[in-house]
Amino acid sequence: MPADPDCIFCKIVAGELPAAKIAEDEHTVAFMDLNPWTRGHALVIPREHSRNLYEIHEQDLAATVSAAKRLALAVRDRLGADGVNLLNSCEPAAWQTVFHFHVHVIPRYEDDPLRLPGQPMQADPDELEKVAGEIRGG
Ligand code: AMP
Ligand code: ZN
Repeated sequence: MPADPDCIFCKIVAGELPAAKIAEDEHTVAFMDLNPWTRGHALVIPREHSRNLYEIHEQDLAATVSAAKRLALAVRDRLGADGVNLLNSCEPAAWQTVFHFHVHVIPRYEDDPLRLPGQPMQADPDELEKVAGEIRGG
């Protein structure tokens, strides 16, 4: 039985939905993303359901990031990736579409077509200080 019956990633953990699995351990499962951005694009998820970064327990977060590092080394060594992006999206405003925490491991190749989706802005130092203060909560 999946922990959350409406969650497709819980179904993958429970073996109720097919996935091209790469690696598993006590706390995590890694499998290929169905709609890869580059060759080898994979996802790492905790076995235990949590909606996203806001909710995941520290131990599951640590295990998922460690598994993502192992996968990054594997795509470097076995697929010849020239680099890797780790991506996590938290809530729809940040592009989250599947609400079971996951880290994308996206192999990067010198000649791949991926480009940054936004333009970095020129920072105003006063504004940076102001925002830093707001985040600190001072
Ligand atoms: P996000 O937008 O960060 O929530 O990413 C969700 C990712 O899950 C997308 O890249 C989808 O292609 C991927 N995805 C959705 N369903 C499946 C599935 N059944 N197996 C593998 N990947 C999936
Ligand atoms: Zn789930």
